Amino acid sequence: MWMIRNKILPGRRFAAINLFGVLFVKHGVKITPMLVNHEKIHTAQMLELLVVFFYLWYVVEWFVRYLQLRDWMKAYYQICFEREAYANEANLGYLRTRRLYSFWKWMK
Ligand SMILES: [Zn+2]
Repeated sequence: MWMIRNKILPGRRFAAINLFGVLFVKHGVKITPMLVNHEKIHTAQMLELLVVFFYLWYVVEWFVRYLQLRDWMKAYYQICFEREAYANEANLGYLRTRRLYSFWKWMK
């Protein structure tokens, strides 16, 4: 996975962002195997949704969750892609056993 350290992306509240399979990490953030695994889970999700539909779904679901919860960060943690990634980031073998479209079961 390509990684680019920088001062701008992903913004104030986050440590890293995966844009089209390239990981942008803020200066000073430690790149751990767990962080990389989390982002690789997102890459798998992206590929399953042909990239563009991943981002569309991500933004729409974040907004819908925001309408439900009225808190952007709480809404972020409820996005199905994030729920799958956070729940499995510590399992470094997860992607070897993950089934296609597994994010779907993290929708409520
Ligand atoms: Zn994530």
